[in-house]
Amino acid sequence: MFDQTTYYFRQAAEIMGIGKRIQRLLENPQRVVKVEIVIERDSGELATFTGFRVQHNNARGPFKGGLRYHPTVNEDHSTALAALMTWKAAIVDVPYGGAKGGINCDPRDLSPGELERITRKFTSEISDVIGPNRDIPAPDVNTNSQIMAWIMNEYSRLNGFSPAVVTGKPVELHGSPGRDEATGLGVAFCIREWLKREDAEIKDRTYAIQGFGNVGNFLAHHLSIRGGRVVAVSDVFGAILNPNGLDVEAVRAWVSEHGKLEGYPDAEAIPRDDLLYVECDVMVPAALGGVFTKENVHRVKATLIVEAANAPTTPEADKMFQDAGVRVLPDVLANAGGIIVSYFEWVQNIQQFRWDLDDIRSRLDNFMSRAAKTVFDLAEKKEIPVRTAAYIVAIGRVGKATVLSGI
Ligand code: NAD
Repeated sequence: MFDQTTYYFRQAAEIMGIGKRIQRLLENPQRVVKVEIVIERDSGELATFTGFRVQHNNARGPFKGGLRYHPTVNEDHSTALAALMTWKAAIVDVPYGGAKGGINCDPRDLSPGELERITRKFTSEISDVIGPNRDIPAPDVNTNSQIMAWIMNEYSRLNGFSPAVVTGKPVELHGSPGRDEATGLGVAFCIREWLKREDAEIKDRTYAIQGFGNVGNFLAHHLSIRGGRVVAVSDVFGAILNPNGLDVEAVRAWVSEHGKLEGYPDAEAIPRDDLLYVECDVMVPAALGGVFTKENVHRVKATLIVEAANAPTTPEADKMFQDAGVRVLPDVLANAGGIIVSYFEWVQNIQQFRWDLDDIRSRLDNFMSRAAKTVFDLAEKKEIPVRTAAYIVAIGRVGKATVLSGI
């Protein structure tokens, strides 16, 4: 996965004429922390897990990035995602560098008490390298506002009251309104900005969304209230299709009651992965990485791919999409709504005041629209893919900050 991020980085760096030594400086992480986490299970046995925090680059501000609890968490994966965060923060111009990390555990096998003990132990192990002005973790796959609340509490116990040490906290505990919907809403703003260039609006297109979790479900909501026709959605158990458009609010209500899409009455059930090949204008992977590969690109019918998930398109698939005239709005831009509202949460914590939801939404719109315009203008002017343009903007900003600070 690190190779994939590096590939896109190098492609842009070559176009910019950046020398190999500076490339190496910008490619590799500044710090990799690996810790052993030993806890007592409810049964009284000891269990050991490995935790990681990779800090990629802090030329533009403190490190920032999610914590993932998943058996696949390792150094390579965290490093790739940390680099993505550096570029993402620079593209949307929030004053952060990139980091990522997590614990190689499966939260489904852990009781709430065990999850809390693992989180507190991990926090104390990495407390020297995180902090409101140092590195600010956030939720990612299988971590949520409760886990952020434990991190804040444990860090504050060691260092004094520090709500700004993490973002994505519960709204009742120094979290920000609008953080839960931020990534999905940001994707909708990004699509709207792209469609303006086609003289179209959200309501003029049909959409399919892979993944109906935090990102997919809020995205579906924000597309449909703007008149977009969402024809298919999927989750880990299966997919549903209605070419006339799903009643998104009814689907959301079904999922919040039943926990999955399966059984939803007003749609056809289709095999889960067939969602990727349904007739639609815009296909949004909002679940996992590595979804589009050289094996399946030829089956995709959409003409616009919007990467709400991180790294859903392999470099070979990306090239094949380009050759076929299919546009790809890349992860580093499309899903940056989360880091933008995380920035708002941090700012509110530090200054000890609160914005309301309308304010957050309009500020998010400003940040996303400005970033999208900068990237789309560059792609148009230089006749390069949107992803390459996004990396050029990011590398330019991080490179400049690095040089100004003094290497
Ligand atoms: P989530 O855990 O809330 O939801 C994931 C969804 O994907 C679930 O509905 C799950 O059932 C579904 N899914 C899993 N495997 C699937 C499969 N093989 N086919 C179809 N559906 C499948 O996660 P999320 O927060 O919505 O994140 C989704 C993606 O967006 C991840 O790649 C994440 O890294 C990325 N992302 C999330 C945020 C954020 O703020 N949450 C920000 C930026 C990027």
